[in-house]
Amino acid sequence: MKNPKESIAPLIQNAVENSEVQPTLKKPVHTEHLGQCVACRGNMRLIQFDDGSEKQVGCRCEAKKMANEKQREINARVFSQGSIIYGDYKTKSFEDYSAETDSQQHALKVSKHYVNHFESHLKNGQNILFQGTYGTGKTHLAAAIRKGIADQNYKVLFMSLPDYIDRVKQEFNESNKRHPIYKMASDADLLILDDVGANRMTEFEVSELFRLVDARRGKCTVYTTNYTSKDFTKSMELHRIFSRMMENTKVVMMTGSDYRMKGLM
Ligand SMILES: [Zn+2]
Repeated sequence: MKNPKESIAPLIQNAVENSEVQPTLKKPVHTEHLGQCVACRGNMRLIQFDDGSEKQVGCRCEAKKMANEKQREINARVFSQGSIIYGDYKTKSFEDYSAETDSQQHALKVSKHYVNHFESHLKNGQNILFQGTYGTGKTHLAAAIRKGIADQNYKVLFMSLPDYIDRVKQEFNESNKRHPIYKMASDADLLILDDVGANRMTEFEVSELFRLVDARRGKCTVYTTNYTSKDFTKSMELHRIFSRMMENTKVVMMTGSDYRMKGLM
């Protein structure tokens, strides 16, 4: 990925230039000189328009803020595009999640809270582990969390563990490694790793999972698994991974009548 500092400079320049000549239908009727900005020493002006609105221009701080926001938007898009989400999970939200059991209602509440307070979770590196059998809607909630946090322009990468492993293997055979998946998964503000332990893992897969979980220490990760805690003690290696996954992690157990069968019976 590009060095963010390198790519932000032209954006700031653009924003400065654009703030001088805003293509707009409204006409300026009065310009007030506000003097120098104490922070950047740029000249600030307040322009009043014929529709009664006002706009402050000329200060570099404001332009930088806009450029930063633009950069966050671009980064968020790269991570969205790098995610592997199947079918309509891309658009799954909390609104279309049907919480029937107490544990599903609790899981929904925890998920919403996570999205609404992500900024503070990010500071604390708070993780969630959704644990439950197939059909309890774990992936649905994880997908809704992805959407809610990606919409706030955070870098969110969503992928199942088997897809992640496939990508790692694939990259071994590729010469062009512009966005190596390990780097993206390590760098994400939030990594959502779906279906941990879905298949019996080979030695290679276990070691790749450990490398990833280790790289995510202190960062925000949401895991979903149908493994029980006991399943994670099957081998020393898995146990080691599980211990690390459990650092600063809220475990959300989910039970329910088969979620995906609902409406089909
Ligand atoms: Zn300023």
